[in-house]
Amino acid sequence: SVHDRAVLHNGVQMPWVGLGVYKAEDGDEVIQSIKWALDAGYRSIDTASLYNNEAGVGQAIAESDVPREDLFITTKVWNSDQGFDETLAAFDASLERLGLEYVDLYLIHWPVPGKYKETWKALEKIYNEGRAKAIGVSNFKQHHLEDLIADAEIKPMVNQVEYHPRLTQEDLLTYCKQQGIQLEAWRPLLKGEIFEEPTLVEIADKHNKTAAQIILRWDLQNGVVTIPKSITQHRIEENIDIYDFELTNEDMTRISALNQDKRNGADPDDPEFYK
Ligand code: NAD
Repeated sequence: SVHDRAVLHNGVQMPWVGLGVYKAEDGDEVIQSIKWALDAGYRSIDTASLYNNEAGVGQAIAESDVPREDLFITTKVWNSDQGFDETLAAFDASLERLGLEYVDLYLIHWPVPGKYKETWKALEKIYNEGRAKAIGVSNFKQHHLEDLIADAEIKPMVNQVEYHPRLTQEDLLTYCKQQGIQLEAWRPLLKGEIFEEPTLVEIADKHNKTAAQIILRWDLQNGVVTIPKSITQHRIEENIDIYDFELTNEDMTRISALNQDKRNGADPDDPEFYK
């Protein structure tokens, strides 16, 4: 059901579907989107200091009558704030903008070369203080995870990466499952650019669902947490209405076969990206 949650390796429960708010404008746009999402049954919101909308996210939470303990709020430390002291300061600023005493998940947004291990020490401190119920990373490849885990006291609970039928990340997913790290899909709908794909249209018609719902259900059945973004009420509702059908093994295989190992966003190993 919509209330099923993934269990992270520290026992914290995380909703399988959350609302992504990248490029949702701070103020009315993000506040209204979150209100519609909470009404539709979402309990998880994915923001970041980069998105410049933590204040609106906080306002939507404050105005909602959903108890804080039922919500799952994620934010992230941006690249220019990495390093131990810088991250602690960035976290304080995020909490302040959100108007929260804790977040449910704090992530390192990207593996900034030479910085992410010091940043991780700050996340461990924040976690040990109870100010983040879980900590994790984003855009980490297997080699970044191996490097981090070699020195870490706490293994990341989540790795949030680009993941959709054109970038199925099968080796990374297998590695993360072996390590007990929950994979989370960003840009799961490829910004809507893949909905005409005939395989998806055919499977969607067969199940009387939309291509978006087929992709998000494929995430769930692969054991991947997903955070589709929309600021449109009926799409927000549609994107969490994925609990009343099941993809067959053949459907799953056909969707995975759409893989082209093709990124839409940056390659985490591209040095230019960090300049
Ligand atoms: P997405 O794949 O979720 O696509 C969102 C777009 O798809 C919408 O703007 C809309 O145009 C369309 N859409 C959504 N639902 C639809 C529906 N039911 N029918 C038709 N069209 C629909 O893209 P995204 O926003 O880039 O990714 C989702 C979230 O992932 C972000 O909001 C953010 O929270 C997170 N993210 C994280 C990183 C990272 O580096 N960690 C990077 C990008 C995104």
